[in-house]
Amino acid sequence: MKPVIALVGRPNVGKSTLFNRLTRSRDALVADLPGLTRDRHYGEGRVGERPFLVIDTGGFEPVAKEGIMHQMALQTKQAVAEADIVVFLVDGRQGLTPHDKTITDFLRKSGRPVMLVVNKSEGMRYTAVVADFYELGLGEPYSISSAHGDGVADLVEEALDLAFAQRPEDPEELEKTDHGIKIALVGRPNVGKSTLINTLVGEERVIAFDMPGTTRDSIEIPFEREGKQYTLIDTAGIRRRGKVFEAIEKFSVVKTLQSISEANVVVLMLDAQQDISEQDAHIAGFVLETGRALVIAVNKWDGLRSDERDEIKIDIDRKLDFLSFAKMHFISALKSQGIGPLMKSVDAAYAAAMCNLSTPKLTRALIEAVEKQEPRRKGSIRPKLRYAHQGGMNPPVIVIHGNALDAVGEPYKRYLEKHFRDTFQLVGTPLRIELRTGK
Ligand code: GDP
Ligand code: GDP
Repeated sequence: MKPVIALVGRPNVGKSTLFNRLTRSRDALVADLPGLTRDRHYGEGRVGERPFLVIDTGGFEPVAKEGIMHQMALQTKQAVAEADIVVFLVDGRQGLTPHDKTITDFLRKSGRPVMLVVNKSEGMRYTAVVADFYELGLGEPYSISSAHGDGVADLVEEALDLAFAQRPEDPEELEKTDHGIKIALVGRPNVGKSTLINTLVGEERVIAFDMPGTTRDSIEIPFEREGKQYTLIDTAGIRRRGKVFEAIEKFSVVKTLQSISEANVVVLMLDAQQDISEQDAHIAGFVLETGRALVIAVNKWDGLRSDERDEIKIDIDRKLDFLSFAKMHFISALKSQGIGPLMKSVDAAYAAAMCNLSTPKLTRALIEAVEKQEPRRKGSIRPKLRYAHQGGMNPPVIVIHGNALDAVGEPYKRYLEKHFRDTFQLVGTPLRIELRTGK
């Protein structure tokens, strides 16, 4: 499991600047997706070979007793409680404020390991910049500059060392062998996740049902279906009781994120008997950010009239239009309807996510695309696309080389993506296009 770093601090201390720096490598890719990036708080980062998840917990403002703000505050608290390590940012230019003390009290109660980090310290002497903050009693402060990057890599290394030191040795974790396609089943409470698990697992042979639960309360459910192996990993909001799985009321962003980031394929479950909610869109957003393959399961399709079915289809198309790369299935977990085709799409999405495309094939497809439609000139400059190679999988990344590629606009990139998608029949996986201008 990737360690989780939560960024905490009052507004304007530089949390989102730090967040963007930590997750930057992905940002450029994610930014291509319209409508999603305005309010990003969750991301994946990496230092060297070490991946991690990072959560920007937002402004930590005093909030209302109910409603969406209240919900957000609860999620913030939960994120802190579930994080491996909390990075508490303060502002080195402003110095210590009462709000910082309030947050300190809260963090102390949370019992999570905290690193006190003084931001905006560029051009200042360490001793001067941290002096104010010793009185918080959180130990030796770190000093960084999120904007300039000073000290950030070291900070993350330290944070990850601390996170790993926290974790008890877990030999079972290491022994877990590879049981086929790793699936994360995600969705808000009550959409029918545990019902689907029970249907899947009840119908089919469970390979090793009595997997000991790990310290982090994760569950892995390997099962076999039509001779193929799968493992449901760490599905958030589900707990095992005896031979069956049941839902727990609480929704955990951290667990959902973790399961998505560990999976090869995500099955996003929606409830056909409810409107698509903000929470659905948020969960869908996480999936997209991590670039995992995706299949959509619209559950509780049983007992709906055809006009109701049409209504929910329209609602989904409208609110989740950014998921159009994914196959959508209408199922009943309860009545075990539509499960076979759903799993076929899981296989197909996995195959697409792991596809291996040779440079000649990709280049041929690129040339074809350009012959059909050339990129527009920008002023007197005409971008020249020369060849393409694959730069990664799950999600597949197609790297295009050429000249003056800075002048290629978003619409043309989308055109290329569609062309590659159609040519190689890549259904169910995001596809990332990178442009690299040669020297
Ligand atoms: P958040 O509200 O905690 O997410 O804070 P932001 O990341 O939005 O940053 C608030 C302001 O502080 C912005 O104007 C940033 O440009 C600025 N800022 C962030 N990090 C640094 C830093 O390392 N040095 C300086 N001088 N300014 C910074
Ligand atoms: P979870 O919170 O996502 O794990 O949801 P559950 O699996 O606990 O299901 C929530 C409720 O929806 C339960 O009362 C289920 O019986 C019901 N439910 C689940 N799947 C279906 C379905 O396909 N059709 C109908 N009509 N109800 C379902």
